[in-house]
Amino acid sequence: MNAILTYGGVPVPWTASWTAEEAFHVARCPTAGGRVAICQSVAQGEGKPRFGKPHSQRQRKAIADGLCDLCGRTLKGRTKVSLSHARPRYAAEGWAILQVEPLLHKECAAESIEHCPSLKRDLRDGSLMVRQVARHRVQFAVMHATYTQEIAGAPVTAIGHAKVELLSWTDRTEAWLQ
Ligand SMILES: [Zn+2]
Repeated sequence: MNAILTYGGVPVPWTASWTAEEAFHVARCPTAGGRVAICQSVAQGEGKPRFGKPHSQRQRKAIADGLCDLCGRTLKGRTKVSLSHARPRYAAEGWAILQVEPLLHKECAAESIEHCPSLKRDLRDGSLMVRQVARHRVQFAVMHATYTQEIAGAPVTAIGHAKVELLSWTDRTEAWLQ
């Protein structure tokens, strides 16, 4: 079991990157089906957390393996919660939402909001939505060689972040999380 790391008394999401993890390269990523992907060094918990910058491998692993954004434990058989700014879009198979934020346990979603002033603000002004997810699937962003060159120094097409595509969900409120 992963213990949730904290920094200055604040829980740090399992997927967040740390300042000691800022060296990027390309490598085959098992979570992306062994395809070439943008990767970064691994030193979780070292330096300072970068709350707005998810770690490449952990972000992909959380989404592909169905792990919680905050605690990194499995979501299997649990209520799955989306906290995202993404809006529904009409696609070939109907309404869907594409988000880069991994899903959360209900209690972990509540804890994230409790400790994060920007999530709290965005919930109250209606730009951040709470959703209970019934059905979703995984996608991977494919990054152009010029982007990979800029980030990781290799001019190759590579897998970037993973995305959660919500296919069926119920809109919920902050109060529902408590
Ligand atoms: Zn969790």
